[in-house]
Amino acid sequence: MADNEKKIHNVVIIGSGPAGWTAGIYLGRANLSPVLYCGAQVGGQLTTTTEIENFPGFPEGRDGPELMMDMEAQAKKYGTQIVYDTIKSVDLSKRPFTLRTEDSEFQAHSIIIATGASPKMLNLPGEKTFWNRGVHTCAVCDGSFYRGKTVAVVGGGDSAMEEAMYLAKLCAKVYVVHRRAELRASRIMADRALATPNMEFLWNSTIADVIGDTSGKFPKTTGLILKSTVDESTREVAVDAMFLAIGHTPNSAFLGGQVEVDDAGYIVVNEAQQTNVEGVYAAGDIHDHVYRQAITAAGFGCKAALEVERFLARQGVTS
Ligand code: NAP
Repeated sequence: MADNEKKIHNVVIIGSGPAGWTAGIYLGRANLSPVLYCGAQVGGQLTTTTEIENFPGFPEGRDGPELMMDMEAQAKKYGTQIVYDTIKSVDLSKRPFTLRTEDSEFQAHSIIIATGASPKMLNLPGEKTFWNRGVHTCAVCDGSFYRGKTVAVVGGGDSAMEEAMYLAKLCAKVYVVHRRAELRASRIMADRALATPNMEFLWNSTIADVIGDTSGKFPKTTGLILKSTVDESTREVAVDAMFLAIGHTPNSAFLGGQVEVDDAGYIVVNEAQQTNVEGVYAAGDIHDHVYRQAITAAGFGCKAALEVERFLARQGVTS
């Protein structure tokens, strides 16, 4: 039996984005020996972002992965036990709660769910065929493969503008494919994108499919079939890659319906970040589909940690 499985943990934090690390910092400093399970993408979505210009305290901006590594170091410094593994399922029917990874099972008096959200896909046949061979969801991760080439970004929100502006610095041409004729993105991001010379906006269009060459060792994307949203017309656009930026799906499926979620799968919390299960809290993009910022996720992580501290004190657990 691994060390981690022997005793009942005071609190297990699931997720390693700003919400999870912040909860770790607070609970570690409160001497509550938090254990944080990182999940498959250590550092969460911010590790796929470039310069963060709106996290207070960094007037020159901050590199996303570096910010996350600093948060991790800070949580560790104050006593958070970090486990580089993924929680696959939980049993919340009684306390202490049971949590399971692929090959271990252990218990905890309280849980903070900070598993964030994952990029949405369009579920087109070509998406699977050309995944990572011209179909991507992260320009910072994969954009450099398309230096000097032509790419498309799908979506009209801030994420799409951020991806498109990043790619415009590397690529010869960037199409932005949006299903309406008006961007959802904030004014500042939209204005910057609209003023970028090598960016072309393809309005009122959705992607019908991704096309390419599958005859070689690896599939290669060559274009997109666009479908008009105002009439039934379709057309082909030659691109070397498509970057999807059409929003996110909350990572709540592993909870198996034991925690109340809304229609889109976001966890429902009360003012104290508590879910419908006493002792189970949620923080960050897993419940917040409105603000979804690093700073708000960190704030929710702080709130959840302070509430867990109170909850544990009520249970007589103080260290
Ligand atoms: P979002 O604001 O929900 O935008 C998603 C975009 O994808 C929308 O334009 C939407 O079109 C489009 N879309 C959704 N489903 C689609 C489909 N099936 N087919 C085609 N298009 C589809 O998501 P986001 O851009 O990821 O932003 C999420 C939040 O994070 C926002 O609050 C945003 O402000 C924030 N954010 C901020 C920054 C920053 O400040 N640096 C960066 C990134 C994100 P419609 O417009 O027609 O709905």
